[in-house]
Amino acid sequence: MTEADTFRTQVREWLESHCPESMRSPITSEEQVCWGGRNSEFYSDDQETWLRNMANKGWTAPTWPTEYGGGGLNGREAQILQQELKRITARPALYSFGISMIGPALLKYGSEEQKQQHLPPIIRGEIRWAQGYSEPNAGSDLASLQARLVDHGNHYRLTGSKVWTSYGDKGDWMFCLVRSDSEAPKHGGISLVLFDMDAPGLTTRPIRLISGKSPFTETIFDEVRVEKDQVVGELNTGWTVAKYLLTHEREMIGEGGLGQSGAEPLSSIARRLIGMDGARLADPVIRNDIARLEIDEAGLALTVRRARDEVSAGVSLGATASMFKYTGTELNKRRQELMMSIHGLDARDWSGEQSSEGAVPRTWLRSRGNSIEGGTSEIQLNIVAKRILGLPG
Ligand SMILES: Cc1cc2nc3c(=O)[nH]c(=O)nc-3n(C[C@H](O)[C@H](O)[C@H](O)COP(=O)(O)OP(=O)(O)OC[C@H]3O[C@@H](n4cnc5c(N)ncnc54)[C@H](O)[C@@H]3O)c2cc1C
Repeated sequence: MTEADTFRTQVREWLESHCPESMRSPITSEEQVCWGGRNSEFYSDDQETWLRNMANKGWTAPTWPTEYGGGGLNGREAQILQQELKRITARPALYSFGISMIGPALLKYGSEEQKQQHLPPIIRGEIRWAQGYSEPNAGSDLASLQARLVDHGNHYRLTGSKVWTSYGDKGDWMFCLVRSDSEAPKHGGISLVLFDMDAPGLTTRPIRLISGKSPFTETIFDEVRVEKDQVVGELNTGWTVAKYLLTHEREMIGEGGLGQSGAEPLSSIARRLIGMDGARLADPVIRNDIARLEIDEAGLALTVRRARDEVSAGVSLGATASMFKYTGTELNKRRQELMMSIHGLDARDWSGEQSSEGAVPRTWLRSRGNSIEGGTSEIQLNIVAKRILGLPG
């Protein structure tokens, strides 16, 4: 047996005894998603057990160093773990902007004290993070941001506002891009700072969406205190940290385009709801669209696998994340459009939010935002054109 085979056997045995049976099926409603955090309520005892087991092993952040509570796995081992989780259709134990965004940035740019303070609670799902990047006049042109950080001797004060803060009302801590030097050139006066969202002077206002839900807030800062040791990297170098963090965000969002592991394939849903004409799906247009989508999804899955192997070999993901973000989100929009077509008139059913059928129009509407969040498709295409294809700007 190779080392990889031995590791796979160990993972398989561990999962057999530590992944509760009810955690081995696709998530069917938002309530079943575990985000962790100070105020989190578990959907079931099994969900809590599953998070605790994975966190104790460090496998909520498999490749992070063990000294901060991570799994310490190398790229190949992490890949095997993912394959074994997929094999039993295990639900993600934790969804976390801490793991997908600020954690990687802290590992690369954070001080030792910041790593020790923040990484272990992220891994255990104890602190939920929110992202304070966009402002009313700074979205695609993020570097135009105006939230001001002012030096008050032994601490800073932050004044201004952010918008589209996903789950801003549920966040415990925020990683936030601020203008720390108004005199410096646009990109040179920005810092990335961290603060507790319970701080006095911070308020959130819900933003209601077309889907009827309100997963966002406006976040307003009125002289919010920021400690001096909570600047990530050097003061005024936040743009570099912010861009690195965005590659991780874009990779995470793009991989969402590969669909949920274990979810019923579109072709099978179509067979069930539309019916067959002999050996073929009865609707030739939908049949054609599903075939095209599945081919494109397979292409993305293979490209992601190749890039992961390159990352394991030490190549940085960089602008490739924009390629994944663009392709993954456009594919997800196509998949949700097709789900609507497959469900026909039933797709208008808005009522059964909890059931997978009733969720169809809401999921379709949610997918529209997919190619906007983390930077729009146009912005990703600009990055691919400039940094991958080398076209003139
Ligand atoms: C579901 C969702 C979740 C989000 N969560 C968060 C969050 O947690 N935290 C956060 O900070 N932000 C969040 N955002 C905000 C998101 O990052 C911004 O919406 C996004 O960056 C676009 O900015 P904007 O909305 O200001 O649009 P604009 O920048 O005003 O863009 C408007 C249109 O112009 C196009 N455009 C702009 N500039 C160019 C250009 N140079 N070339 C070509 N086309 C261009 C855009 O592609 C777009 O179509 C979220 C957004 C969504 C939809």
